[in-house]
Amino acid sequence: MTGTLEELGYTASLREHYNSVAAEGQCPGRVVEAFQELYTVSTGGRALRCTLSGRLRSRLADRAAYPTTGDWVILAPADATSGVIHDLMPRRGVLLRRAAGERSAAQAIASHIDVAVIVQSADRDFSVNRIDRYISIARAADIRPIAVINKADLVSPEAIGELCAAISSRHPGLHVVTSSVVETGGLEGLRAELLPGETCCFLGSSGVGKSTLINALMGHECAATGAVSEATQRGRHTTTSRTLFALPGGALVIDTPGMRELGLADSGAGVEDSFAEIRDLARACRFSDCSHQEEPGCAVRAAIDEGSLAPAALDSYLRLRREARRFEQSAAELRRTERKHGKMIKQILREKRDRW
Ligand code: GDP
Ligand code: ZN
Repeated sequence: MTGTLEELGYTASLREHYNSVAAEGQCPGRVVEAFQELYTVSTGGRALRCTLSGRLRSRLADRAAYPTTGDWVILAPADATSGVIHDLMPRRGVLLRRAAGERSAAQAIASHIDVAVIVQSADRDFSVNRIDRYISIARAADIRPIAVINKADLVSPEAIGELCAAISSRHPGLHVVTSSVVETGGLEGLRAELLPGETCCFLGSSGVGKSTLINALMGHECAATGAVSEATQRGRHTTTSRTLFALPGGALVIDTPGMRELGLADSGAGVEDSFAEIRDLARACRFSDCSHQEEPGCAVRAAIDEGSLAPAALDSYLRLRREARRFEQSAAELRRTERKHGKMIKQILREKRDRW
């Protein structure tokens, strides 16, 4: 993917950072494709195949710190087609993937994301709870969520109205648009949400129409691989992680396979922020650690009894919070085991040394 740095999403604060740290012979660039430790980096004008400098690799604390699609990096071009990445610029809008309780560390699957386009299909499997989950993931990463009800052509306008209302009553203020790839003008609402220079990602269950939407927004078939192929001169079959590309309107899309299996991030903060109404009500609960289940003086349950809060919202909130807590616990357990393991090794080494 080529185009100027600004067209790639370069901002004033990134420029400022770059100017304060970059050395002679270096330039800024954005990772448009990441595969293991090989990166395609667009420098605004050309795409270079890059590796990591040894010094950078030794500084990277864990898997999650490795560059990923969307990252802004500082590199030194070696020749017309390759270069070496020397540093990462400060990150924001990072989507992490990690499996709770497994030894595998978290992995960053996309970075510098501004907007999460949460797609649901109007005809089946519609679930506000699932939207809650994706909103929590987005909020935890400081990414602005919007909701899209796709396949609007398959249901009546009344049914669409009800779905929109169901989302809006759970999440007041959330932008909700409908879309259809088969109706003329069916993408206008969505297009209006995708601003030039902003990076978005599409989240949602398989089959809701994410790929079809992206292709339609691009205006041609196989759009998702087109831009990358152009940059790296490689065909679709070898593109293992097709990734960052620009829509005709100037918005950028990151679409990596890893996004399909996103789980809740490791912090409960995203969940709290996604249910602002419950968070605000909870301030009036008698107990500051109220679980809103059996406790006396619970303002959240009182709101349900009064009819001002939907019971389904509390159910969804409690489920996501449980999930986030379980995740935190297993992450903490993992750290404890690792610490114990580390101590044991030190102990063995000490005993060995003492013996000799
Ligand atoms: P993904 O798994 O979310 O990427 O979903 P796909 O893009 O593969 O789409 C799943 C199916 O839904 C495909 O058969 C699409 O043709 C169909 N589809 C996608 N968008 C629409 C739409 O707006 N209207 C209708 N009727 N079908 C759609
Ligand atoms: Zn309570």
